Amino acid sequence: MAKLIGRLAPSPTGAQHIGNARTFLAAWLSVRSRGGKVILRIEDIDSPRVKSWAVEQAIEDLQWLGLDWDEGPDMPAANSPFIQTQRIERYAASFQQLQRAEKVYPCDCSRSDVAAAASAPHDIANAPGNQNFELIYARTCYNKKVRDASVLSGKYSWRFRTEPSEIFFRDGFAGEQIAELQNQFGDFVIYKSDGLPSYQLAVVHDDHEMGVTEVLRGDDLIPSTFRQLAIYDFYGWEPPSFIHLPLVVGPDGRRLAKRHGDTRLSWLREQGVSAERLIGLLAKSLGWTDSLKEQSVADLLALYDLKRIPKEPFVFGEKELNRLLR
Ligand code: GLU
Repeated sequence: MAKLIGRLAPSPTGAQHIGNARTFLAAWLSVRSRGGKVILRIEDIDSPRVKSWAVEQAIEDLQWLGLDWDEGPDMPAANSPFIQTQRIERYAASFQQLQRAEKVYPCDCSRSDVAAAASAPHDIANAPGNQNFELIYARTCYNKKVRDASVLSGKYSWRFRTEPSEIFFRDGFAGEQIAELQNQFGDFVIYKSDGLPSYQLAVVHDDHEMGVTEVLRGDDLIPSTFRQLAIYDFYGWEPPSFIHLPLVVGPDGRRLAKRHGDTRLSWLREQGVSAERLIGLLAKSLGWTDSLKEQSVADLLALYDLKRIPKEPFVFGEKELNRLLR
């Protein structure tokens, strides 16, 4: 059997909060409870939103929780570097394969062009917890060939030519998932106008190259999984198994964010909250314990059980915060 390899993949676009901690904890336990290997990868290609302090802080947050990894920015290995902005040439090489196959086309539509051409905004919230509305690209540039990029004068991105077929996967938690990529999501951007790969390409490239066999993440990314499976299919790479867990939401049912008050891990640390107390709360929210008893990640290795995790998002409100701050 292939070795089990999972990963923690924080995006340093801001501070990591309780929602991130819950998913990282489950991702780590899922792999470690079966003796697998963990990789830490920093997903910092979303350049305008990446904050320079956030990389270090994400690593500190994970260490504070007690999570460890076998390979990462501080643990060089055959697949180094583990910071996406240091891997740009690799993505470019994969991207050229897509170009050679005319599987991508240049698109110089502006955001407002895309909005104007879309017949109706589609809610792609086929994943619980996903509150994003996305416009389906009307394929205005579909007839462009790769060579046409050379005559475009303004900014342009590259879109993936989707097929009108169904994509299916069996999620380890959320069950069977099916979507028609072309109708439900449209031709998505795979290389951005700033010359950087999109998250979709970088994540597939990295998970493949790093030998990742299991991806456990928030269920807001289910729509991305369909796109990523189409990319795996193009390259003929075997996809990892996917486990998507419900997110942590505020009392209003929306994904945990600044409007819900401070839930940053660094802030909780400053308030004197111990990692064990937070982990105790998260373990209860994940259905593994009945009490708020303090726990370490090591304590949870024996308790980890995907089947006990509630299907609904975990609501984190004032009551829960006060339990941590008590
Ligand atoms: N970097 C992404 C995030 O922090 C996770 C991506 C993934 O797990 O594929 O939301």
